[in-house]
Amino acid sequence: VPVTAKKPPWLRQRAPQGEKFEELKDSLRSLKLNTVCEEAQCPNIGECWNGGGGAGGDSKHHKATATIMLLGDTCTRGCRFCAVNTARIPPPPDPMEPENTARAIAEWGVGYVVLTSVDRDDLPDGGSEHFARTVRTLKALAPEILVECLTPDFRGDWEAVRHLAVSGLDVFAHNIETVKRLQRIVRDPRATYDQSMEVLRVAKGSKAGLVTKSSIMLGLGEKDDEVLQTMKDLRDAGVDILTFGQYLQPTPLHLTVKEYVTPEKFDHWRVVGEKLGFRYVASGPLVRSSYRAGEFFVESMIK
Ligand code: SF4
Ligand code: SF4
Repeated sequence: VPVTAKKPPWLRQRAPQGEKFEELKDSLRSLKLNTVCEEAQCPNIGECWNGGGGAGGDSKHHKATATIMLLGDTCTRGCRFCAVNTARIPPPPDPMEPENTARAIAEWGVGYVVLTSVDRDDLPDGGSEHFARTVRTLKALAPEILVECLTPDFRGDWEAVRHLAVSGLDVFAHNIETVKRLQRIVRDPRATYDQSMEVLRVAKGSKAGLVTKSSIMLGLGEKDDEVLQTMKDLRDAGVDILTFGQYLQPTPLHLTVKEYVTPEKFDHWRVVGEKLGFRYVASGPLVRSSYRAGEFFVESMIK
C-alpha cells in the first residue's frame, strides 16, 4: 500500500483498557519504574499489560508483559529509525539501578518482563554485567517472573554476550531490524548484519536450551527474497522466535516509510516463518519486538 498522509485503518491506535492494565498502572506510580510501554506511548499497552486477557486478547496463556529500559535514556549510536537521544559519552549508569529495578519489578505484578537498553559503546563491557546483575537480582527475588533481555550487539564482544546469556534470563533477544542490503541505511554503521547474526549464534551456543529471539521491521523498502533470506539466516543462527512489525517514522527527521505493508502480507510472513521452523512468529502491523511476549513465550514452550 503506498504511503500517503493518512495512515491505513490497520495502523490506528487502540485506546488501552482492561482490568490488569488499570491495576498495573495504579501500582506503577509508587515504584519509580519507567516503562518503555508508557514512555513510547506504545499502542499495544492494553494488550501487553493485560497479558492477552482483555482488550481483545484471545490467548489462553495470560502473562502480562512490560518493557523496562536500563542504562539510561541516551545512546552512543544514532540509528535512522530510532528516536532515542544520542551522545558520544552519556552520563554514567546508576550503580543502584540493577537492585532498585529488580525490586520494583518483583513488587509490580507483571508476569514477563523485557529488559532492554540503549547501546553503551562507552562502557568496557557494553553494560553486560549491569543487565546480568538486574536479571540475577530479579530471579533471586521473584523466580516466577520470566525475563527477556533485548540486548545491544556489544560491538561483537562475545564474552559480554555469553556473560549475559548465562545470567539466568529466559529469552535472549537481539534485533536484526532489517535485511542485509538496508543495514547501512537503517542502522548506525557500527551495527552490521553479520555481527548481529553472530550475537544470536553465540548467545544460543552459550547455554543448552536457551531461547533466542529477533525482530524485523517491514516497510523500509526491503524485497520479498531479501526478507526470506534474512529469515533463513536467523534460523541458521538458531533463532527460535521471530517478530515482524510495520516501521513507522518517529519524527520527520527520521527515515521515511517506503510502504505500508498489509495485514495479509504480515500473515504471509508468519506462515513462511512457521514453515521454516521458528517456534513462534508474531507478525502484524503494530507488532513490536516485545508485543505480548509473555503469552507467546509460554505458547512456544508448549508447542
Ligand atoms: Fe510495552 Fe513492548 Fe508491549 Fe509496547 S509492545 S506495550 S513496549 S511490552
Ligand atoms: Fe536506538 Fe538502539 Fe540504535 Fe541506539 S542502538 S539509536 S537505542 S536502535
